[in-house]
Amino acid sequence: MAETPTTVRAARAIQAERSMSALNRRMNGEHLPRRPQWQCQMCEPDTPWPCHPARVHLAEAYGRDRIGLSMYVGGLLFIVAMELPDVAPAELYERFVAWTR
Ligand SMILES: [Zn+2]
Repeated sequence: MAETPTTVRAARAIQAERSMSALNRRMNGEHLPRRPQWQCQMCEPDTPWPCHPARVHLAEAYGRDRIGLSMYVGGLLFIVAMELPDVAPAELYERFVAWTR
């Protein structure tokens, strides 16, 4: 795979941090991820985030805007991939993005 230009990476990182700060508001402070493990802070210990209630919250926040929702979680994926380097990208995609379809 071609090396991503630094400016593109930096722009993605900024976008990803924006997505993270928006998350707290979107979730009303509940079912937020514990980082860098990406486990839910409210559910049973070791529950991978997004847990079921988090998915419901996010889906409700976006309503019919499924593209907006998938773009939003896709933005988070950039941070997740850096913080969970041992998890296969395909697995992360399944967990964070595929459920929005
Ligand atoms: Zn939860």
